[in-house]
Amino acid sequence: MYQSSYLNKLFEDVKKKYSSEPEFISAVEEFFDSMDYMVDDEPNIEKYAILERILIPERVISFRVAWVDDKGKVQVNKGWRVQFNSAIGPYKGGIRFDSSVNLSILKFLAFEQTFKNSLTGLPLGGGKGGADFTPRGRSDEEIMRFCQAYVSELFRHIGPDTDVPAGDFGVGAREIGYMYGMYKKLSNDFVGTFTGKGISYGGSLGRKEATGYGLLYFVSEMLKTFHNDTLKGKRVIISGSGKVGKHAAVKAHALGAKVVAMSDINGFVYDENGLDVPLIDKLSEPKGEYSLEYMKIYPEAKFVPTPKLMWGMPCDIALPCATQNEIDLEDAMKLKANGCYMLVEGANMPTAVEAIRFCNENGILFAPGKASNAGGVAVSGLEMSQNAMHLSWTYQEVDQKLEQIMKNIFRKCHETAQKYGQPKNLALGANIAGFIKVYDAMLQEGVI
Ligand code: GLU
Repeated sequence: MYQSSYLNKLFEDVKKKYSSEPEFISAVEEFFDSMDYMVDDEPNIEKYAILERILIPERVISFRVAWVDDKGKVQVNKGWRVQFNSAIGPYKGGIRFDSSVNLSILKFLAFEQTFKNSLTGLPLGGGKGGADFTPRGRSDEEIMRFCQAYVSELFRHIGPDTDVPAGDFGVGAREIGYMYGMYKKLSNDFVGTFTGKGISYGGSLGRKEATGYGLLYFVSEMLKTFHNDTLKGKRVIISGSGKVGKHAAVKAHALGAKVVAMSDINGFVYDENGLDVPLIDKLSEPKGEYSLEYMKIYPEAKFVPTPKLMWGMPCDIALPCATQNEIDLEDAMKLKANGCYMLVEGANMPTAVEAIRFCNENGILFAPGKASNAGGVAVSGLEMSQNAMHLSWTYQEVDQKLEQIMKNIFRKCHETAQKYGQPKNLALGANIAGFIKVYDAMLQEGVI
């Protein structure tokens, strides 16, 4: 129950209308927890139906992706692009390829992306896309044909000032390359319509590390502000074997933290003395799996074949970097019982709403992905700027800008949380600060 009767009514509507979209409902519920602090003091929100409008994507494109596998068999997948909100800039957000992808997941991701992109301070609207296709186990040629088939429909809906996709789960440099190649051929334009591109054809240095590094810049700001402390010697646990987790580990290690546990698809490895992060960095190329190989080299480390049990290990800081709904209430309670005092999201919505509420009420400092993992899309924004100017910045220039952006995001979240009398509630700060810019633009742009 919210304090605001307007929000209660809206939320009942959302639950009824989108009963088959549980991830989207969770994202809205989490967002409304914060809106409850401001909505009744801002009559224009209700008067101009800002929330009613913000909850419905401006456009959803849903299409067939037909392609031929290596055995000559015709395969058919479902593809989507959710163009959620363009109040402050062209739609921007990644593409996810995984068998679990459906409209609910893409809507929740695009909804969150809208506020995340707003927080970066860059002119980026919110979008997300994907397909129910899993690249894992497919040959390179199959992946190329799939990407080409996906873009042969998507290309007509995107453009450098319209909608700029990037990578997400299941979509890395290889997939972006194949999609961009087909896009360029069909549109006959060499423009920056995708980000996360290879360096040789317009990508930005520092993009692949950006989400993980940005996450650690954010963690550093949290430690400095709330504990007058640094990462030196902190015990960190990290889930996920993708780009985010790996680069988060590398940066945490570089900043003096002790990464004591990391998980991949097979399970997790734990060593109270700290894992060999450079080795994990090496082993995780190209498939993102490292735990089994790691155990052959360090048999004295502990291996548990169930990734989720990692949240029961002792740590100071937990960084969920895998996927949505990784941490439920029980996991949050285990984290608390084992000494964890900071939970900072590297993935999108890895923490369930009940677990977030538990953190806020029990002294675990929580930061939502829409703030703490915004480094990836921020450097995507920098890639767009470089493409538009037809030049490229050095790695150091990009990294410095990223660090500054992450500090600014933290400051905005913290100041907003303070303004609403909840200085440690960074989710509140992120939601309200992200929302205000979009809201302001929507008011000025009229009812459209
Ligand atoms: N998929 C990433 C995210 O969740 C990056 C999006 C982008 O670079 O556009 O923010």
